[in-house]
This record gives sequence, structure tokens and C-alpha cells, in this order.
Amino acid sequence: MLDKAAIKNIQKIVGEENVAEDKETRICYSYDATNIKYLPDLIAYPRTPEQISAILKLANEAGFPVIPRGAGTGFTGGTLPVEGGVVLVLTKMNRILEIDADNLLAVVEPGVITVDLQREVEKVGLFYPPDPASLKTSTLGGNVAECAGGPRAVKYGVTKDYVTGLEVVLPTGEIISTGVRTVKSVVGYDLTKLLVGSEGTLGIITKIILRLLPLPKAKRTMLAIFPTIEAAATTVSKIISSRIIPTTLEFMDNATIRCVEDYLHIGLPVNAGALLIIEVDGHPEAVAQDIQEIQNICSANQAIEAKVAKDDKEAEEIWKARRSVSPAVVKLNPTKINEDITVPRSKVAEILRRMEAISKKYNLIIVNFGHAGDGNIHVNVMIDKRRPEEVERAHSAVREIFAAALELGGTLSGEHGIGITKAPYLSMELGDLGVQVMKRIKKAFDPNNILNPGKIFPK
Ligand SMILES: Cc1cc2nc3c(=O)[nH]c(=O)nc-3n(C[C@H](O)[C@H](O)[C@H](O)COP(=O)(O)OP(=O)(O)OC[C@H]3O[C@@H](n4cnc5c(N)ncnc54)[C@H](O)[C@@H]3O)c2cc1C
Repeated sequence: MLDKAAIKNIQKIVGEENVAEDKETRICYSYDATNIKYLPDLIAYPRTPEQISAILKLANEAGFPVIPRGAGTGFTGGTLPVEGGVVLVLTKMNRILEIDADNLLAVVEPGVITVDLQREVEKVGLFYPPDPASLKTSTLGGNVAECAGGPRAVKYGVTKDYVTGLEVVLPTGEIISTGVRTVKSVVGYDLTKLLVGSEGTLGIITKIILRLLPLPKAKRTMLAIFPTIEAAATTVSKIISSRIIPTTLEFMDNATIRCVEDYLHIGLPVNAGALLIIEVDGHPEAVAQDIQEIQNICSANQAIEAKVAKDDKEAEEIWKARRSVSPAVVKLNPTKINEDITVPRSKVAEILRRMEAISKKYNLIIVNFGHAGDGNIHVNVMIDKRRPEEVERAHSAVREIFAAALELGGTLSGEHGIGITKAPYLSMELGDLGVQVMKRIKKAFDPNNILNPGKIFPK
């Protein structure tokens, strides 16, 4: 709990107009996309690294937690003030500071919305590939802190592949710069990589240097429909093994297709076992060749239909279906337990078989969709948390889902991080020693456990 003196000091640091103490505002920042709620004691909207530094120094003296927050779209509770404290909302630090077309770099503040950077760089023929489905809302600071990925990760990788340097306020209040503006550097430990994906527990990111690419000249989008999930999964393996790397290779199972059709009424094939959304980009001739080859592979693997969008409008219709999955599936049941396990690409069919078996064993609705091209499956257990017995069954099912992913050589999370929701399962993947080593790193950065306490590590 913050005392009056601490609140006054924070008002002095950021200005009274940038602090909110009233309950209504605090409620607005008490939850994220998990819908779990913890009420913060105070909200502050800093505008400079120096202000953040002063607040962190004060927090170390007075002993209150500080929690960085972007847009609050996180799926694992990373920005929830589980021990109270001050939520630092970084959305007012939202300037694109530089687009360096000669060196293919952008320098941004953390509160820039992901799609805003993409649109700006595209105006000068450049490309920032990471594309979380939340990109119209999420901040680049949140993307870096979670190492966000998206459909284009199959070909272009995830946020960490684009961050070359950071400015960070350490939990103790010092401000450091990590990384470089050059293509290469091997000077000391790679602190940039350590901070990317650290979920707001090792430092507050105040500036980000991002690598850009030339904007691909052409793009084609295809919707392929399959009678069974097996046929779709086999097609994914065949595309990858034919040495074509599509830009995106998304899949939706039958339950997901039904939900989306029920939500949008756009004529999706509700009796299909699965569908794939496939996109390729690059030089126009290579794109034409690849999309033809992919169409052939789909046909050879039982596709009922493999239709290439004839223009941007048709392509957008296809993507609309994929982007509507999250709001559509909650119609099945009000509580969504959303896991994002990742398995080696060749194991996609096997993991989906196991999800079906777990769904039957625990008598739970499980819908699967996601990034089949990189093995990242969004497994959604749809329950009603007002039914305690169902919640119990869901918890057992989740442990089995994680065990299945690990058994197949996979990982607990491909995108959403650990936060609070996956913390109890951390040692299943890392082992006790792995967790201990990470705790030592946290302690070295944050000796008083001021910054975003209660995250990643199980209690
Ligand atoms: C509909 C929907 C679709 C989504 N799709 C995807 C997807 O395709 N791929 C994907 O990867 N994720 C996805 N997400 C999850 C989420 O959008 C991402 O994790 C995103 O990167 C979070 O950004 P944010 O600005 O909302 O961060 P927040 O939710 O505000 O914060 C997330 C974490 O980052 C920390 N943080 C935020 N800003 C900073 C900073 N400046 N410095 C240090 N720490 C900071 C917070 O403390 C917290 O731990 C989706 C979420 C929703 C609701």
C-alpha cells in the first residue's frame, strides 16, 4: 500500500495531471485480456525515462511495487498488480522518433501502437513484420516485453528478431542503453535479448531500436478447406518439406470454423474438418510460382477447395475470419482458458490428436486454431467458471495439455509468456535448476523485488 507521502512524491515527479488515485480509473487498469482482476493503488502516466527512474528510486526506498503497462492486451496477467502498487501506463510515450531508411532501422518509444509503426514504415517502402493479432491495440513496449509473434512468424520470426537495441530503466532506477544500431555486435553479454520477453520484470523499456526490411513487392492469400484435421496437418508438413516458406500458415479446426461462421455469417464451410489460411509474399514471379505449388499440394492432400483471393478485398475477407476467432469462441462458454503451446512443426497432427483425446477424457469443449506453420497452436478450453467442478476438470486438462506439448519436444508458450497464469507450470519445462538460475538473474537486476513482483515464478 502506498502512503500519502509516496503519492505526493509521484505527483511531483510526473505532475498531478499524470496521476490517478480515484477508484474508477484504478478499476480500468485492474485487468488485462485474462479478465483476472487486481486493483492497483495508483496509476501514473510518465513521459520520460527520468520520471520513471525517479519513481523506481522512490519505490526502492518506500518499498512499493511498480508495474509497467502498455495497452493491457496481455494474455497471461503480466500487467496485473498482484501485490498492489503503482501501475505505470506507458501509452503517453508514443512517439516514432526516427525512421532511418538508409540503415533500415526505426527508433520508437514504448507506447507506439504496433500497427502505427507498420503503416508509417510502409509509406517509405519498408516493412516491420511482427504482427500479433492485437496489433491495432498493443504497444511495441508490450510486444518487446512479451516477445510477441504473429502469423508472419513462419517466415519472418518474432519480435526478438527485430530488436537491435533498447533504452531501459532498471528496477533500481539507473538508465542503461543496450545493443546497437549496427547489423552486427558481439560486445559482452547480450542484454537486449535477455530483456526481450522478460515480461516487465527486469526493466522498463523506454526506447526501442527496431530492424526493418524492404516491403515485399507482391502478396497472395489462399483459403484451403479440408475434410479432416489430419489432411490439413499433413498439408502443412508437405508445404514446409517442399522447401516453400509461406509468410503465414494459419489453421482453424471445425469447432473454430463453426464459431466464426456463427459470429460473422460469411459462408464458411461449417462441415469442414479444418481450414488453412496461407499467404506468400516476395518477388511477383516467385509468389505466383509458390502459390501455384501450394495449391497443387493442397489438392494432392484431399483439399475440398483451395481458393486464391483475387484481390486485396477478398484477402481481407479471409483474414477477417481469422481475426474474429477470439471474440467468436467466447460464445461457446463465457470463460476461455487460452494456452499457446508450440510443438515441432512435424508434430502438429499428433498434438491435435492429443487435444481431441484430452477434450473427450475431461468432457470439455476445446477449440484449436493458430499458427500451424510454426507449430504454435492456440488451445482454448472453453468453460464456465461459475461451475467449480468444471474449473477443476479444466485445471487437470491444462496440465495434461502442457505435458503433451513437452513430450512431443515442444514448449509451454510460443507467444503469450508466463505471467501469472502459467507460473505454476514453469518447472515442468525448465526444471528446478532452470527456475533457480532465472531467479538469480531477477535478483541481480531487482534486489528489492520492486518491479512487477509475483510474475513468471511460482509462489
Ligand atoms: C485479441 C488478442 C489477440 C492477441 N494476439 C496475439 C498474437 O497473435 N501474438 C502474440 O504474441 N500475442 C497476442 N496477444 C497478446 C498480447 O496482445 C501481446 O502479448 C502484446 O505484446 C501485449 O502488448 P500490450 O501493449 O497490450 O502489453 P500489456 O498487456 O500492457 O503488458 C504485457 C507485459 O509487458 C509488460 N510491459 C508493457 N510495456 C512495457 C515496457 N515499456 N517495459 C517493460 N515492460 C512492459 C507488462 O508489465 C506485462 O508484463 C493477443 C491479445 C489479444 C487480446
